[in-house]
Amino acid sequence: MRFSAWDYTRPDYAEVKKKINDCKNLMQIATSYQMFRDAWLDVKKEIEYMVFQEEIIYIRHLCGIDYQYSLEEVEIQNKEEPALYALRDECNEIAAGSPYRSELEQEFGKQIFAYVDQHRTVGNSNSMRLQSEEATLVMQYRQIMTKDRRDDEELFQVFRKLIEIRCELADSLGYDSYIELGYHLQGRWDYGIREITEFRNNIRKYVTPVVDDIKVRKIDFTYPPAIATSTGELISSIAEMFKDLSDETGNYIEEMMRKERYDLEIRENKRSNLFTCCMLPYEKLPFVIGNFTGDGMETGYAVHEFGHGFAFYTAARKQPLYELYRSSPAVNEIHSKTMEHFMYPYLNRFVGEHKKEYIRNHLMQQLENLAYRCAIDEFEHLMYDKNLSRVRLCELWADISSRYIPWNRIPLEDVHQGRCWPRQTHIVEKPFYYIQYDIAQISTYEFYLKMMGSFKQAWTDYMRLCGEGGSKSYLELLETAHLSNPFTGNTVEEICRPIVDELYDLC
Ligand SMILES: [Zn+2]
Repeated sequence: MRFSAWDYTRPDYAEVKKKINDCKNLMQIATSYQMFRDAWLDVKKEIEYMVFQEEIIYIRHLCGIDYQYSLEEVEIQNKEEPALYALRDECNEIAAGSPYRSELEQEFGKQIFAYVDQHRTVGNSNSMRLQSEEATLVMQYRQIMTKDRRDDEELFQVFRKLIEIRCELADSLGYDSYIELGYHLQGRWDYGIREITEFRNNIRKYVTPVVDDIKVRKIDFTYPPAIATSTGELISSIAEMFKDLSDETGNYIEEMMRKERYDLEIRENKRSNLFTCCMLPYEKLPFVIGNFTGDGMETGYAVHEFGHGFAFYTAARKQPLYELYRSSPAVNEIHSKTMEHFMYPYLNRFVGEHKKEYIRNHLMQQLENLAYRCAIDEFEHLMYDKNLSRVRLCELWADISSRYIPWNRIPLEDVHQGRCWPRQTHIVEKPFYYIQYDIAQISTYEFYLKMMGSFKQAWTDYMRLCGEGGSKSYLELLETAHLSNPFTGNTVEEICRPIVDELYDLC
């Protein structure tokens, strides 16, 4: 069915709760693996369907359709969901501690309980209270940020309270610091602070000087225009590319078009610059949202989101549980970013004669982001100190910026007046998340280099990575796709060098 034809009915939360509770009881009295397993799977079915119903209105909300009504519905979702997720986690905990655990692991893989363990840590009642306070502060911060005239002191007070709450949360859960908890929440099972620090050092050594040097040349990086003059034309070009690329992408895009799983139109109440991909596990299909203004680089943003969707679509057809349809961003972003490079041979359909400029801008943007995100990440490692004053916070950021992104000069006056800590919302909304885009970038470059050598090999490895979804840990997934570990030896330098050479050739 076409997406626009779906009716929205608010989930009957009381009924969902009752059903999950019934499943929970069945799990507790189960006398056989079959009985236990089926009840456990029924919990997931309930959640999948609830999420599906919710997502219908959430997508409309993001698209700016029925804005006021959808906003109210989304607010109700935010209120109702936590209790149901807590109940689901309880069922997962029962499964993790049950005598059937090894049978479940045999049938569904070990990774599923890694996710369960990740959730379990934050489930006690004191931490639930702190987490809801945290969520309120995040909302407050977001609201202040949307104001045209922001009050820096007001913003800083919310920021500082947030740091306090997070430190308290880590403390209440027995962690030495919030950094440790943050790593845990990001599901970093096979790399830690030492690897991340080394990674940042490598980016600073091999990427920062290049970007700084190119910036000095005052090259015009204005975005070229797109060939498409409407979203319909853009979708046609994407469909042509996906059909030509492989049978798998062809089938995917055909279904996405037939079922109308995208909305790239600009609309009142739709956030500008929004490019995202929503996942509907119940249907094993994604929904791509974009805001196409006719800019050439945006065609890549749209392909990026269709890339996320393709990976989800592929994994959903191979993996047995919805939790395994996706991995962490350090992997998910490889899917989407690599699709941007699979797009290169088709660029004439998207930007015509501006292909060279497009690639130059694209590579430059990526390298610049590599350095910027490392700066943000280092800042995140230093900001969880309850005694930092506003000025000290700005001094820290000024110092970090000067090392990673020296082209971004911060006036001393802003430092002294406490006006310049970074406003990257990830710091507030998704702690320790941002660096994962960088980690994924290195694997993406590796794929890009591979496709220039052998397209067939690159595509086979890419399909393997997409199909595995989140069924393995980060390093195991890299291994299945024959990708190097970005944390070892000279990987960053070796992979970035040819990319840098290509960028210099284009400048
Ligand atoms: Zn992405």
